[in-house]
Amino acid sequence: MKTILFNLTDGELEKFVTDLSLPRFRAKQIREWLNRGAPDFNVMKNLPEDLRSKLNEVAETLPVKIVKKLESVDNQTTKFLLELKDGEQIECVLMRTTYGNSVCVSSQAGCAMGCKFCASTLLGLKRNLTVNEMFAQLLVARWELRGDRLKDTQPNGDPNNGDVSHIVVMGTGEPLQNTENVIGFLERANNELNISWRRITVSTCGIVPGINELNKWGRPINLAISLHAPDDELRSKIMPINNKYKLNEVLDAAFTFSSAHNRQLMIEYILLGVKDKNGSVMAYNASNEHALKLVELLRGHNVMVNIIPWNSVDERDFASLSGNAVHRFQDILIKNGIHTRIRRERGADIGSACGQLRLKNKKEEK
Ligand code: SAH
Repeated sequence: MKTILFNLTDGELEKFVTDLSLPRFRAKQIREWLNRGAPDFNVMKNLPEDLRSKLNEVAETLPVKIVKKLESVDNQTTKFLLELKDGEQIECVLMRTTYGNSVCVSSQAGCAMGCKFCASTLLGLKRNLTVNEMFAQLLVARWELRGDRLKDTQPNGDPNNGDVSHIVVMGTGEPLQNTENVIGFLERANNELNISWRRITVSTCGIVPGINELNKWGRPINLAISLHAPDDELRSKIMPINNKYKLNEVLDAAFTFSSAHNRQLMIEYILLGVKDKNGSVMAYNASNEHALKLVELLRGHNVMVNIIPWNSVDERDFASLSGNAVHRFQDILIKNGIHTRIRRERGADIGSACGQLRLKNKKEEK
């Protein structure tokens, strides 16, 4: 079995190198390449060629390997399908924006939450990701952005800097079912890549004890709640987790977190439609009444509602709403003083929504 060098501590990497009868300084050189996200040993230009091929035989660089890479037509979004050591697959997305380079990180292989509109959960949960497996997703993005270019001289976060500047834990999986590793991962991202807490967002379907744990941890990150319905009855129909943690409990924990850290709470709200017998699309969670109920829940709190047009998933029975319906919903929120944003559909052309690529690949394998 090949050794994954990124998973070794500095001491272990030195031992690995000296066991191959190599001088110690090779360990330091290799570590630098690993931290840049080197996908294999061939790119490590300051190592002799025979050493590179030797390393290729006995070792691997990162705990994730790129299986597929898709580029959106506007070249602003790159989506990676990654394979882990045990053959599980995860997705990770790099979004180049005017404010920096954001990476959407997966926290689990698969998902156990069972939300009725989502592709990630269709094959169930396989397992939690390790700290290294989450961190390696940033390194894949880092290599994509910078390759073997040397260290930046500009401060991190400058869009021209070309390094990862923002993290959203919004990929496959429920981060607050893997809280300890997610916290470990974010500590490292802050520490080693200098990504400030305010440029980090963790999104949850509403695991109240997990939100409380984040609160105890105390870092001023951004919290996002996947709400998707303005009352318990409707929310329980599309998000089974709502049977365990009710909407008001979730919002209370979330408001407590965001006011303690002086952050705006992000509310994610997918607009879902359903087709009637004649094939016309009706609002499912997006009528005027739903919008007004949402206003009542959020009034007086520092929130931003991210309105998300549903990315259609073949296996799911919902339908996407028209642009008009989306704007009507948004107008009601705005008129009632609630901040909103319509999420741009980044990379919709490359199946960038939650688990679509992994699912498609699994189907093709069969
Ligand atoms: N489990 C976490 C993070 C992963 S999902 C959470 O629930 O927040 C990231 C966001 O994408 C969530 O708001 C999720 O509900 C939403 N999402 C899932 N499937 C989608 C789809 N088909 N179209 C648009 N958004 C989707």
